Amino acid sequence: ALGGVGWIGYGVYQDRHPEPQIEADPTKKTLVILGTGWGSVSLLKRLDTENYNVIVISPRNYFLFTPLLPSCTTGTIEHRSIMEPIRTILRHKRANVKFYEAEASSIDPDRKVVRVIDNSEVKGATVETEVPYDMLVIGVGAENATFGIPGVRENSCFLKEIADAQLIRKKIMDCVETAAFKDQSPEEIDRLLHMVVVGGGPTGVEFAGELQDFFEEDIKKLIPDISDRFRVTLIEALPNVLPSFSKQLIEYTESTFKEEKIDIKTKTMVKKVTDKTVEAEITGPDGKKEKVVFPYGLLVWATGNAVRPVVKDLMVRIPAQKDSRRGLAVNEYLVVQGTRDIWAVGDCAVAGYAPTAQVAGQEGTFLARLFNNMAKTEALEENIRDLSGSLNLKPGNAAEVSREIEENERQLRRIKDVKPFHYSHQGSLAYIGSEKAVADVSWFNGNFASGGSLTYLFWRSAYLSMCFSTRNRLLVINDWLKSKLFGRDVSR
Ligand code: NAD
Repeated sequence: ALGGVGWIGYGVYQDRHPEPQIEADPTKKTLVILGTGWGSVSLLKRLDTENYNVIVISPRNYFLFTPLLPSCTTGTIEHRSIMEPIRTILRHKRANVKFYEAEASSIDPDRKVVRVIDNSEVKGATVETEVPYDMLVIGVGAENATFGIPGVRENSCFLKEIADAQLIRKKIMDCVETAAFKDQSPEEIDRLLHMVVVGGGPTGVEFAGELQDFFEEDIKKLIPDISDRFRVTLIEALPNVLPSFSKQLIEYTESTFKEEKIDIKTKTMVKKVTDKTVEAEITGPDGKKEKVVFPYGLLVWATGNAVRPVVKDLMVRIPAQKDSRRGLAVNEYLVVQGTRDIWAVGDCAVAGYAPTAQVAGQEGTFLARLFNNMAKTEALEENIRDLSGSLNLKPGNAAEVSREIEENERQLRRIKDVKPFHYSHQGSLAYIGSEKAVADVSWFNGNFASGGSLTYLFWRSAYLSMCFSTRNRLLVINDWLKSKLFGRDVSR
């Protein structure tokens, strides 16, 4: 225990006493990194920033630990516990890194500039400017897919950013408080307390589970008069939820949801959304299609990713990207096809992997290694050039200089040999409510599937260990304890 306290203490001390920063060198290449998500932050974490003039641009001045975002919608976890300010992360770097809080609106690969927009609240105005780069990393992620279905954007909540989770948290309590208000008709109470989730991927499943927990553990006790009216429905177009998990875990999730009284509607495709209803088409076992209408109080839309406009715009400018649909096609070194000095990581890149945090994180780490190596290679090559030049000038030292050149060349051969990016899948985890989780884990070349309460403990410890900082870890533990002991905070 003493060791643990010492370790935490050391972490806190390091946080508060970083090494002094070294000023940026104007002779170095400018590396611009767009985004502060999994890909960009993993790159920053391991990048030797003294080799480049690094500029980070993102509209979000913090890293968000997205795996615990569904827990923020019900107050199991407070949102600040899973946010890490980018300024704190940059403070630990050896060389000065610039951060601009702004959104990249377009990229010109010919002029090598990024156009950025800053919507400054203090200034009350929009500032637009250009940032030139020598090397560019795009890690801007994706936006929410709506497939152009009418009414979705206007009426649904999404679950991607902190603001989305906060809005959902407010809306849940708005529905509950309105349903409990004087003289509501039974139909209106049923509508308000019907929470509809569209999309049976991990986001939709985890959110539905959290929502049912919130109701069972807190709302039911605090407002018993509405306890038999609250309902959660999960709508999925495919024949089952969690399509990326193994069959056994899909069945386990579906049966757990049945016990939790979460209604799963599979083979149900949403076609239209209004402010109070979801209109869908159910395909029956005989293949016949039937129209259904679900009145709802809260609608959460979790049907996956779509390409961001800034990425779409760049794809139009690069002929080699003509056939790519889901994002920037990259080669095995994550270089954007058709360019020489632009790399892409995470959900905006198409490298042949699922758009997950795990993939983005590994891609960022790979790029850090690649860039660190590129800088070392350049330094060694320059050294060899200098030594070769001095070889004839100082004949007495020829043997020593040749030895040095040889040593430099040996080092160069070793580091130049960077293997292409290879994703190593550690497994998939999802929380499914009532203190149960499912896990498809790859261990020693084998696959291991498990579901239940023990898996839930594994889920908790895995996510805790993955949190960005010691500070985040302590806050998350505190939130878990607090909501267990005192219940979730239902104030709006
Ligand atoms: P997803 O793409 O995994 O799932 C979206 C689901 O919505 C699909 O199953 C699709 O069939 C369904 N859908 C689409 N249109 C529909 C419609 N009109 N009506 C009904 N259903 C419709 O999306 P996600 O869950 O947001 O996940 C995005 C990515 O992030 C995935 O790669 C996922 O694996 C990853 N992720 C992983 C975790 C985890 O491992 N715990 C958590 C969240 C996200």
